[in-house]
Amino acid sequence: MVQQPVQGQDSAASAQPPEKIHLPRTSESEPLKKIRHTTSHVMAMAVQKLFPKAQVTIGPWIENGFYYDFDHPEPFTEKDLKAIQKEMVKIVNRKLPVTREEVSREEAERRIREINEPYKLEILEGLQEPITIYHLGDQWWDLCAGPHVANTGDINPKAIELENVAGAYWRGDASKAQLQRIYGTAWQTPEQLQEYKRRKEEALKRDHRKLGKELGLFIFADPVGPGLPLWTPKGTVLRSLLEDFLKQEQIKRGYLPVVTPHIARVDLFKTSGHWQKYKEDMFPMMAEDAEAAVAEQGFVLKPMNCPFHIQIYKSELRSYRELPLRLAEFGTVYRYEQSGPRTAGCRIPQRRGFNPVRV
Ligand SMILES: [Zn+2]
Repeated sequence: MVQQPVQGQDSAASAQPPEKIHLPRTSESEPLKKIRHTTSHVMAMAVQKLFPKAQVTIGPWIENGFYYDFDHPEPFTEKDLKAIQKEMVKIVNRKLPVTREEVSREEAERRIREINEPYKLEILEGLQEPITIYHLGDQWWDLCAGPHVANTGDINPKAIELENVAGAYWRGDASKAQLQRIYGTAWQTPEQLQEYKRRKEEALKRDHRKLGKELGLFIFADPVGPGLPLWTPKGTVLRSLLEDFLKQEQIKRGYLPVVTPHIARVDLFKTSGHWQKYKEDMFPMMAEDAEAAVAEQGFVLKPMNCPFHIQIYKSELRSYRELPLRLAEFGTVYRYEQSGPRTAGCRIPQRRGFNPVRV
């Protein structure tokens, strides 16, 4: 039964709890996938209209919205974002059909050269046949595989918002051109957008970097380095309580606690394949001398716990009756990662906590 509020009645007495607004991730929602993908193109079109010097690169959907990377000599400002968003609303309201066209590689190349977009040429090189181009009306196009909505009018102009600009590198490679990434979000309804913004604000209030400082749980110190928290006595008490709780829960669920070292021979990670695949994101190897360095013999900080746990598993003959064997560790792992496009160019160590492993 739906209760209608009655005029004059005490509103508190008849107040219903507000209906929970569902905010699906892009990967969970086909309509959002199409909306966000198309909105990213609408944004790129708006950017190129307002900033004709801007060149487009890639513009995928992400879990809560989309982004597009642009090569543009001047940095985009807050004011620019507002202007771009306004232009996007105009494009949406013009209800431009979104059409797919299949072209030959040569034809795609010819058209890209015509508009002088070198990044697109590079993208084209990596594309498999068939090469598809998506048009917004007859105004703008980009290489893309879809999916999109059928018409820019299918985007709700009150449910889109540009969020921020960050630095990014072409192909994520710091030796290549520095680009500007504009992040935006798009939803099916204005109510969803409002709820998304509300949750984002709430999350900011609960940001661990902010709370940690305010509650005196941990600090960061310049001489120690970015991303390396120092737990205060107060924070350590909280941490122990959480660990104790987790240990109890793990034991209840059949996990056996283990502890493994912070470093290991590089060979361990060659066996696991981490070294070959993720060497760039690991801290450099510590070799005893130049000869050892050349032979790639030395120790590395662990980027993962599981190879250690495999060794524990292998240390004795096991019966299938023991399986699954569940080992758990409050392990500290070290990754020498690009900290992401939001603070481009800065490498910070990353750590992660609890590491359950099933063998
Ligand atoms: Zn697309």
